[in-house]
Amino acid sequence: MYVIKFEDLSKSDIGIAGGKGANLGELTQAGIPVPPGFVVTAQAYEKFMDEAGINDKVMSILEEIDINDTKALQAAAEEIKTIINEAPIPEDMIVLILEAYNQLCQRVGEDDTDVAIRSSATAEDLPEASFAGQQDTFLHVSGDEEVIEYIRKCWASLFEARAIFYREENNFEHSKVYIAVVVQKMANADKAGVMFTVNPSTGEEIALIEGSWGLGEAVVSGDVTPDNYQVDKKDNEIVNVTISDKKVMYTNDENGTSVKVDVPEEKRKERVLSDEELIELTEMGKRVQAHYGEPMDTEWAFERNNLFLLQARPITTLGDVDVDEGSESSDLGDVLVRGLGASPGMASGKVKIVLDIDELDKIKDGDIMVTTMTTPDMVPAMRRASGIVTDEGGVTCHASIISRELGIPCVVGTGDATATLEENSGVTLDGKKGLVFEGISKTEDASAPVAGVSVEAAPLITVTEVKANVSMPEAAAKAAATGADGVGLLRTEHLMLTAGIHPGKFIADGKEDELIDTIAENVMIVADEFYPKPVWYRTLDAPTDEFITLEGGENEPEEHNPMLGWRGIRRELDQPEILKCEFKAIKKLHEQGYTNIGIMIPLSQSPDELRQAKALCSEVGLEPHKDVDFGMMVEIPAAALTIEDYIDVGIDFVSLGTNDLTQYTLAVDRNNEFVAKHYTEEHPAVMKLIERTIKKCVEAGVTCSICGQAGSVPHIVEKLVGFGITSVSSNTDAVAEVRKTVARAEQKIILDAARKRLE
Ligand code: PEP
Ligand code: MG
Repeated sequence: MYVIKFEDLSKSDIGIAGGKGANLGELTQAGIPVPPGFVVTAQAYEKFMDEAGINDKVMSILEEIDINDTKALQAAAEEIKTIINEAPIPEDMIVLILEAYNQLCQRVGEDDTDVAIRSSATAEDLPEASFAGQQDTFLHVSGDEEVIEYIRKCWASLFEARAIFYREENNFEHSKVYIAVVVQKMANADKAGVMFTVNPSTGEEIALIEGSWGLGEAVVSGDVTPDNYQVDKKDNEIVNVTISDKKVMYTNDENGTSVKVDVPEEKRKERVLSDEELIELTEMGKRVQAHYGEPMDTEWAFERNNLFLLQARPITTLGDVDVDEGSESSDLGDVLVRGLGASPGMASGKVKIVLDIDELDKIKDGDIMVTTMTTPDMVPAMRRASGIVTDEGGVTCHASIISRELGIPCVVGTGDATATLEENSGVTLDGKKGLVFEGISKTEDASAPVAGVSVEAAPLITVTEVKANVSMPEAAAKAAATGADGVGLLRTEHLMLTAGIHPGKFIADGKEDELIDTIAENVMIVADEFYPKPVWYRTLDAPTDEFITLEGGENEPEEHNPMLGWRGIRRELDQPEILKCEFKAIKKLHEQGYTNIGIMIPLSQSPDELRQAKALCSEVGLEPHKDVDFGMMVEIPAAALTIEDYIDVGIDFVSLGTNDLTQYTLAVDRNNEFVAKHYTEEHPAVMKLIERTIKKCVEAGVTCSICGQAGSVPHIVEKLVGFGITSVSSNTDAVAEVRKTVARAEQKIILDAARKRLE
């Protein structure tokens, strides 16, 4: 069958209609209002290629391309698209398509009605494979000629350079990927948005609805901050309404083309959805969830008071979250202290105040550890705690980074928790909101903290790689389980903990080999989990105030401001013996086959440091660029402003360390809670440095990534994708959400390009 109406398709028809087409069929069959339409099947595409006799020609072009040669890839893509655009479409197929289109026009009572034409790709053996965002979508297509023309364009878009690259990278056989095309009446929405049929971060049975004016693109692309509503599905009670300032919207101009315009002043702060509309949406959400038997992520639109669903897919980011009513912050006692939410999740337990390292033993399984600030040697005790509260610090401090990685709820920067909280008293902390409540939550078992994070493998595949940050080898398996595309930052400082001995002491005691083995053994655990995906080992960035607590750390100098002091590559070049041991450890691993490990130097302020570090690496017999990928962090404004000079020295990759870049640009100590309110990566100066670095790297063909905390913040990530970043490395708990954001941002870029082509 070449053409099938939505009414005759169901979710099991992915092999015929692709994921998008099959789901629209399923919704239609379930009686959910969906703008009507039909699918030109994957088999129609196959027939077209066969009849035109162009299959072999296309496949032989594909066989010969080197996908890493961008120019050759583009040229091959153009050649294939021309072949497809010039090949004849079987007459009987054209007749069937136009018949279906004309029936659609009759059904909606409009001549040459406007339709959206969307690609819906599918793989022969792997119908569930995701190709979202790889192929084109065309909006506002009308009339027989245009309909055929744009269906053909969808077919050709299977061979966009980006799509070819994606399939090669993900080992999909080109000849086994087909494309179905969805032809659907355009919804001219007055208001639109998305609805999750449960709260996606907690799993609660609350419909979470976002809506804004005009077509849905504004919300889906993130161009607008939509209104946010929450409706309790038990009794349809509207439990939260947050109205935002909606600055832009997409609407149809007189030619029927969608354009981005300013929202009229009087509507910007007007509430989008009435109580009745919210209930109508919630009811529809319940029906969709009941029909599919699982929580769903949907896109909806109201067109002249009629509600439609445009898309529905299972929510893929729900973790093993088990939050119920009792753990809601609002059910708890008084707030005892407030700070910054550093690691999400709720935890209850007995307060144990640790003012000195000697007191760590008192932390038993399930206790809440309360301390001034955690240090590396506290990690074993942190592991036993069900929650962590600190007086000092911001969201990028030691306690924050480690507790996120361990999946332990954490509140930092409270100012006075060690003085205010009472030893042995029961408390509950909310690591998302940054609050500590009096009493043990009724439903909280102190030994079983509920971490509100998802570590489920993210099924979306994006061209911009989404990697994970890892600090402790034991966290590598969890990080790998997210489906991350590699490790964009392996922080060595924490590896040294396993030894518990200062690296300088190994050297002083003549035990270099032991130091090399310690590093190699720990890095191997991470490299193994991710093999063959890349793991970027960052050489030691040892701040004196953190390393002073390690055995042999007593000789660390006391600095006025360790953040501006003896750390990073500048320190390593003063202590080259340690750096050389690190290089030797990586060399050893490469020789054992772990060629996926790259090297990255931290906190550089001058290209000469890069030159010297590379020379030391060569000296141990590991040739930068040839034997090992060699890159650098951009954490100091000086490096961002002179990145081209580093590129001249030679680097394989760059990673933006926005935690330090922000503190050094704004003169805000990232560990100092008194100035935490001034710490923001979104300051225009920081964003300019980020944009400059990415653009200079893109220009020079150097891989550019980010591994600072900003890489875990979806709305910042969206901007970085727009700047052209190659990969994003996030906290383990954020990988799935960031992947979703990246996919949306990539699709938006494709959509914008498609729209431009239509103009
Ligand atoms: C950074 O500075 O952004 C970074 C990732 O390094 P760290 O947080 O370890 O200083
Ligand atoms: Mg840093």
